[in-house]
Amino acid sequence: QHMTTAEIRNAFLNYFASEQHQVVPSSSLVPGNDPTLLFTNAGMVQFKDVFLGAERRPYNRATSSQRCVRAGGKHNDLENVGYTARHHTFFEMLGNFSFGNYFKQDAIKFAWQFLTDVIKLPKDKLLVTVYHTDDEAFDIWHKEMGLAEDKIIRIDTADNFWSMGDTGPCGPCSEIFYDHGEEIWGGPPGSPEEDGDRFIEIWNLVFMQYNRHADGTMEPLPSQSVDTGMGLERISAIMQGVHSNYEIDIFQNLIKAAAAVTNAQDLEDKSLRVIADHIRSCAFLIADGVMPSNEGRGYVLRRIIRRAVRHGNKLGATETFFHKLVAALATEMGEAYPELIKQQAIIEKVLRIEEEQFGKTLDRGLAILEESLKDLKGDVIPGDLVFKLYDTYGFPADLTADVARERFMTIDERGFQEAMEVQRKQAQQAGKFGADYNDQLKSEKTTEFKGYDSEQYTGTVVELFSG
Ligand code: ATP
Ligand code: MG
Ligand code: MG
Ligand code: MG
Repeated sequence: QHMTTAEIRNAFLNYFASEQHQVVPSSSLVPGNDPTLLFTNAGMVQFKDVFLGAERRPYNRATSSQRCVRAGGKHNDLENVGYTARHHTFFEMLGNFSFGNYFKQDAIKFAWQFLTDVIKLPKDKLLVTVYHTDDEAFDIWHKEMGLAEDKIIRIDTADNFWSMGDTGPCGPCSEIFYDHGEEIWGGPPGSPEEDGDRFIEIWNLVFMQYNRHADGTMEPLPSQSVDTGMGLERISAIMQGVHSNYEIDIFQNLIKAAAAVTNAQDLEDKSLRVIADHIRSCAFLIADGVMPSNEGRGYVLRRIIRRAVRHGNKLGATETFFHKLVAALATEMGEAYPELIKQQAIIEKVLRIEEEQFGKTLDRGLAILEESLKDLKGDVIPGDLVFKLYDTYGFPADLTADVARERFMTIDERGFQEAMEVQRKQAQQAGKFGADYNDQLKSEKTTEFKGYDSEQYTGTVVELFSG
C-alpha cells in the first residue's frame, strides 16, 4: 500500500518500540563524541561509545531515524547526486540497535517482519547478501525466514564485513536488496552490474561479532551487538511505487519549488534534483551550527552551496534563489525536525549571503571557462585553469569537475594541486622577504585552505561505517 515518507518513519519507530526498543532522537550532523569524523554518516554514530562499552545507557535496545550527511570525507556521495537513483548528500537512516542484547537471529527476524509484515513488501522482490563465511546468517535467512537459496548471495568483499577501525569491534553484514524490475539497468549484488540501480540496497544489518587486535587476530566479543541502517528515502520510493528516490513525496515538492524559483521548465532536469538534494544538506548543516568557511566542515558546506548555485544558474535563475527553498523544506520536514522551523530565518540569511557573494564571480568564471574550453584539445581541463577559477572566482575544484563531467570531461587534479603548492610557496617566500599587505592576505588565505576534497581533513577521520 502507498505510504508517505512521514508514515514510514513513524511505522518503523513504532514497530521497534513495540519490540522494546527505546526511541532515541536523531543526533546532530556534527558528531558530538568524535572530532575526527566529518559528519554523522550513520545511525550508529551517536551510539559508538555504547558499543565500545565506554558509555552506559538505561536501555539495551534502541531505534532512531538519524539525519546523515555523506559529502566530503571518505563516505562521499556528492558525486553520485544527479547520477544515481539512490544517493543523496543528506538522507535519513532508520535503524535498530542492540547493545549486547539480541544478535543475528532477532536482527534478521525483526527486519524481515518489518518489511514483509508491517509494510508488506512482496517477498519475491527481496534478496539478501551475507558474508561468505557467515553460515549462521545464511541458515537463519534460509531455514527460518524461508528465503530460497538463490535469493541469498554470499559476498566475500569488505562490502559485507564491517569494522569500526583498524582494531576494535567488527563483524559480518547482511544486506537486503529490492529488485525494481528488469527494465532498469543493473545486476544483483556481487555481479559485474551491481552498481546499476535495478537492485537497490535498502537495509544493512551489521553484526558486531568480533574484537580485532593490533596483530590482526579476532576473538569473539564478550557481548555481541547489532547495528542496522535503512535509507528512509529508498524505502519510500518502493512504498510509493517509484524507482528513484527523487520521485518520492518530499522530493517532488522540493523539485517543484526549485523549478518555480529558477524558472526551470523541465521538471525532469537533473539540475533540479541536485538543487533539491543540496538544499536539504545545506539547511540541515546550518541548523546544526555549521557555517560556510574555507576549511573543514564549513568548506564542505560552501562547496555544496556553490554547486547548487551553479546548477540554478544553468537552469536560468536570474536572481538569488537557493535561500527561497528553505520554506518549502520546512513545510516538508519541519514536523519531524522542528529545529528547521525554529532556525528558518537564520538558514535563509546564511544561504542568501553566501549566494550573493558567489553570484558576483560566478558568471565571469563560467564565461572564462567557456572561452578556454573552446580552444581546448583533449578532454582534460588543465590544472592551472582549475586553479585560476578557484583562486580568482571562488570555484571549488569539485564544482569545475562537475561542469566538466556534464561534457564528458575531467579535470587535472594533480595539476591543480601543484598550482596550489606553487602559490603556497610563493606566499611563504613573500612572507620571508617582507611582503606587502596584499600578499599577506593571500598567504593567510592559502594556509587556511584544507584541500578541496578535504584530503587533509579526512587524513585523520576515523571511518565509523564502511558498509
Ligand atoms: P550504497 O552501496 O547504495 O552506496 P551503502 O552500502 O554505502 O549504500 P550503508 O553504509 O550500508 O550504505 O548505509 C545503510 C543504508 O543507508 C543503505 O542500505 C541505504 O539504504 C542508505 N544509504 C546509504 N547511503 C545513502 C545515500 N547517500 N543516500 C540515501 N540513502 C543512503
Ligand atoms: Mg555507499
Ligand atoms: Mg551497505
Ligand atoms: Mg552498499
